[in-house]
Amino acid sequence: MKFNKLLGIVGAASIILGVIGGCAPKQKKSTNENMDIKKEIVGQVDGKDVYQFTLTNAGGMSAKVLSYGAIVTHLYAPDRDGKMENVVLGFDDPAQYWTEPYINDAPYFGSVVGRYGNRIAQGKFTLNGKEYQLATNNGPNHLHGGLKGFDKVVWDAEPVMTEEGQGVKLTYNSVDGEEGYPGNLTISITYTLTKDNCLKCDYSGTIDQPCPVNVTHHGYFNLTGGAKTNVLGHEMQIMADRYTVVDETLIPTGELRPVAGTPMDFTEPHTIGERIDQVEGGYDHNYVLSDDVTELRPVATVKEPVSGRSLEVLTTEPGVQFYSGNFLLGNLTGSGGVVYNKHWGFCLETQHYPDSPNQPTFPSTILEPGEKYSHTTVYRFGN
Ligand code: BGC
Repeated sequence: MKFNKLLGIVGAASIILGVIGGCAPKQKKSTNENMDIKKEIVGQVDGKDVYQFTLTNAGGMSAKVLSYGAIVTHLYAPDRDGKMENVVLGFDDPAQYWTEPYINDAPYFGSVVGRYGNRIAQGKFTLNGKEYQLATNNGPNHLHGGLKGFDKVVWDAEPVMTEEGQGVKLTYNSVDGEEGYPGNLTISITYTLTKDNCLKCDYSGTIDQPCPVNVTHHGYFNLTGGAKTNVLGHEMQIMADRYTVVDETLIPTGELRPVAGTPMDFTEPHTIGERIDQVEGGYDHNYVLSDDVTELRPVATVKEPVSGRSLEVLTTEPGVQFYSGNFLLGNLTGSGGVVYNKHWGFCLETQHYPDSPNQPTFPSTILEPGEKYSHTTVYRFGN
């Protein structure tokens, strides 16, 4: 059962507040790189102003990011002719993200999910002898941080200009006990739109009590541009030789099963649609990346043959959830008036494995006081 209630919703009149000066040299005003980062107020949630930032790069790519949910609402990337079109699912009107029907539908478009992205069985885990009960918001399980996870709160936001490009740093202080999790956690994500057409996600965090932490970006991509068709024709490659087998409620059984010889095998490119009918419910699985590396390395590549667009995903994380938009059921009308039907977008959520707090053989997700939570994922667009 997916449901939620959000208080303190105020209308979303868009007031342009002004622009934030970049630190790039001012003399070359002709390139986007030297443009300022636009910041607008687009509404209020829980008594806090919600801002939308627009990042641009010299190549003409742009990204819009909300301080609500750390949501990437739009991402314009070039096709083979250089035509910029939106390659993510979302809404033109930011207020859509905090309407009850959208929240009840729970697709988590473009947001950062946490404290624990993905599922925790029965919403329970035991840490240092103490059992914790989290909100159960997905059948019997806890999903993406609970009833009001990081995708439904207003983050503090500041624009950042670096050598790499324009960015926005979003920070949220999650208090002890929120959604049942122990400890005060400060979590940040910096989205940078780089000069070489990447959306770079740098996550960092600290905590004052041990707690499982597993945050990820929940963007839905559709490389056709403007989501013209479903994504079944996209060619997918995932550098993973195993996946975590799940039960009927999508909780891992603990088995890491080889993909070889099955429709789960994307070690060589296949279209998403080619074998999807052989996978019950469609793809919604955590892939175990084929190495023990924690440095940033390529883990997936997607190509859309009609537009010529490609997406390469690099991450420092041990797993990636490939979700083929199985629960998009045509209930939502998104950017440009497009109805989001089944398989209208795909997610590649870089992460630790689902239910790790209850799976002693999986890499640990426990963040301890004094440690720094840190990972990086890069979505690189080509044409
Ligand atoms: C999950 C899906 C879920 C989707 C949206 C994905 O990360 O794996 O099962 O439906 O998020 O909630």
